[in-house]
Amino acid sequence: MTDTGPPFDLGDIYSVGQRRRPGGSFPTGGGGGSGGNSDIPPDEPLETEEGDPNGGELPLHPCSDPETALDWNADAAAAEALRRMQEDADDPLLDGRERSFVIYRNPLTGRIQLGNIAVGPNRGGEVQPDDTGINRGDIIGLIHSHPGSGPYPSGPDRTNFTEFWQPEIAANGGDPSAFRLYLVGTRTDPGGQARLQIRVYDQSNLEGDENNPGPEVNPNAEPCPN
Ligand SMILES: [Zn+2]
Repeated sequence: MTDTGPPFDLGDIYSVGQRRRPGGSFPTGGGGGSGGNSDIPPDEPLETEEGDPNGGELPLHPCSDPETALDWNADAAAAEALRRMQEDADDPLLDGRERSFVIYRNPLTGRIQLGNIAVGPNRGGEVQPDDTGINRGDIIGLIHSHPGSGPYPSGPDRTNFTEFWQPEIAANGGDPSAFRLYLVGTRTDPGGQARLQIRVYDQSNLEGDENNPGPEVNPNAEPCPN
């Protein structure tokens, strides 16, 4: 696949994860390599936590703190999920099937990983996530595609989020407030062209829609080095 889009000037400040910032760029540095974000100057400072406790020193990278590393690594898993969806569909824009992955924390290694891909019926408008072998308390997110529509939660997506997944995660020893939903779909940004995008929602912005979408996740996001 190619990521031909120019930087876009969008929206609010997102200081977590690997999400598009004002000015259009994505944060860098988690993968320990060039990562494919060649349009981003290497010396661009990372977002800092409120207050800058370092007094003007270089800000801590999100990977250096377990709490912020979670968002960073979950975003990287979402980007990896999109690559696997495109490979499975043999189509960079995906086909008429919804595809889904569970995103979970491996209890042995602590790494954020993807479960098995699940593929829905052609033009069926649904997919059942495959969490085979995964303790639901270890699940931190889901990602699925919306063929032919945008990266916004549907009514059933919201209901499943709050009435199924959050209670299941809590009942199995996990943290339901950390649960997030990544959606892949096509969106035309103001002044832009239609692009396949990953957008992220949690319990704070689950009502997001076309006019108020969740933050965009870097499709080239990479995990923390360790
Ligand atoms: Zn959906």
